Amino acid sequence: MKHTIDVITMGCSKNLVDSEQLMRRFQAIGYDFYHNPDQLHGDIAVVNTCGFIGDAKEESIQEILDLCARKDDGELERIFVMGCLSERYLQDLKAEIPEVDRFYGKFDWKDMINDLETESASEANMPEVIEKAQQSTLHTTGHFAYIKISEGCNRKCAYCAIPIITGPHKSRPMEDILDEIERLVKDGVHEFQIIAQELTFYGVDLYHEQKIAELIEKIAAIPGVEWVRLHYAYPAQFPMDLLRVIRENKNVCNYLDIALQHISDNMLARMHRHITKDETIALIKKMREEVPGICIRTTLMVGFPGETEEDFQELMDFTRDVKFDRMGAFAYSEEDDTFAAINYEDDIPDEIKQDRLDRLMALQQEISAELLEKKVGQTCKIIIDRQEGDWFIGRTEQDSPEVDCEILIPASSNTLAIGHFYDATITRAEEFDLYAEIKH
Ligand code: SF4
Repeated sequence: MKHTIDVITMGCSKNLVDSEQLMRRFQAIGYDFYHNPDQLHGDIAVVNTCGFIGDAKEESIQEILDLCARKDDGELERIFVMGCLSERYLQDLKAEIPEVDRFYGKFDWKDMINDLETESASEANMPEVIEKAQQSTLHTTGHFAYIKISEGCNRKCAYCAIPIITGPHKSRPMEDILDEIERLVKDGVHEFQIIAQELTFYGVDLYHEQKIAELIEKIAAIPGVEWVRLHYAYPAQFPMDLLRVIRENKNVCNYLDIALQHISDNMLARMHRHITKDETIALIKKMREEVPGICIRTTLMVGFPGETEEDFQELMDFTRDVKFDRMGAFAYSEEDDTFAAINYEDDIPDEIKQDRLDRLMALQQEISAELLEKKVGQTCKIIIDRQEGDWFIGRTEQDSPEVDCEILIPASSNTLAIGHFYDATITRAEEFDLYAEIKH
């Protein structure tokens, strides 16, 4: 039975990889499919939902309800829901949105094809479908690819629902990851975003020790890999050898995304982050000593239960002193069944949460502008992502797609190829973006 399926991905890059894996299976069995289409094409729409925090959950529910309305209008026949939201709230969703034809969770979406084939009484050779899907290089991001090296998390930070949704840490076998990257390089992909729920724990479950440094060194050794960028590191028990690998391998980006969340010992303890203020500061110092010029991206949280103005001032002083190259921040959102939701009162009023978030982001805007201004006149390697009107839009090795700074190159005086690398000289800086000319 040939189906045409629209796949809609909500949430993070890890969810995107699940959608890509699902579409690799659709490709293997010969279904037609579209990813995040502007208009619907098929008889079935699959929504891969996000269940991380309040806003993301609402967005996913709204997407499902929109599709239900379109189903009522006859635009599609069936709606399948998968991912983190349905993994977490399956029974509630089933009761509240009966218009949805099938619910899958975070992992059992792998049964979807078998379910579809079984219902049409056709004996799909699933082992063959899975084998073909594993050989596929289908991905949705063009000249770069997200590589998810593990699923789940063992950390149990007090505010986080991810371990409840994804379960314990499960590393992908190293050879699987290396094979996938070799196949993608043959397919013309040269930039790889390495992602996980918790990057630095890689290997502990499978090899009984942290193997992230070894894995990244092996990825860097694959011919044709131009950029490898690391995301979602965790500060406690940080594998210091990873810093040597970043320093010694030119194609491992001088970049590390490491969520710190806070700095006051009071907050770090209440958040169950298993690290102290002094240890955090020492780690950042070590990173900058071991990898000169490393670009540090972090995530900070304000308004966690019990956060005093003094705690928040410590966070502001820390941000001012450290000067993160990239920083994202969000206000605490109470998540069901987390330690914090069960044991702490969500006692910081929303207006204070918002005020602290605004003050922290305003400070980071100043810092970002100051740091980017220092790059004017420098020449760096960039990759071109797209053209938008009069500009080619690119990134340096210190910029991850969709979250970090972009480089704007005038299209009037340049003919550039998407996905290609160039040397560019920075001519102007703004708060979060740079302008440059190609160095001919
Ligand atoms: S390390 Fe990250 S994913 Fe794991 S519990 Fe903490 S915040 Fe959540």
